[in-house]
Amino acid sequence: MSRNPRENFILGGFICIAFGAFFTLTEVYTLASTVGVLGVALFIFGMSLRSNLAMSEEAVRSWRPGEGQLPDAGRVMYRVDVTIDEPIESTIVCGPCGKVTVRSGTKPTAFTCHHCNIVLWNHEEE
Ligand SMILES: [Zn+2]
Repeated sequence: MSRNPRENFILGGFICIAFGAFFTLTEVYTLASTVGVLGVALFIFGMSLRSNLAMSEEAVRSWRPGEGQLPDAGRVMYRVDVTIDEPIESTIVCGPCGKVTVRSGTKPTAFTCHHCNIVLWNHEEE
């Protein structure tokens, strides 16, 4: 109960709202409104607490895809992840050698892996 108070309060709130709806159906209005209001209060209180489960901003920022070779589908495979928040960074996973390259800015028009010198893509010619 104490490990993730936020989730428990939200869960409690949902259960109370469900009960409130149930009592409304059975026409026990007084009880329904009491439990329903308690449920909403618990829910709001739960939402206001900081979640212990949420990833910290730092953890999101420092997240990197794991290194590892991508399956060979008959052509050069790669994976590009671009951050949504500033600073904008592109993380490129090279399929042939599985190395990760991090560079600032969005996905470049052409990229050659520094580790194995394979051209992963080149859109400049198109
Ligand atoms: Zn490579």
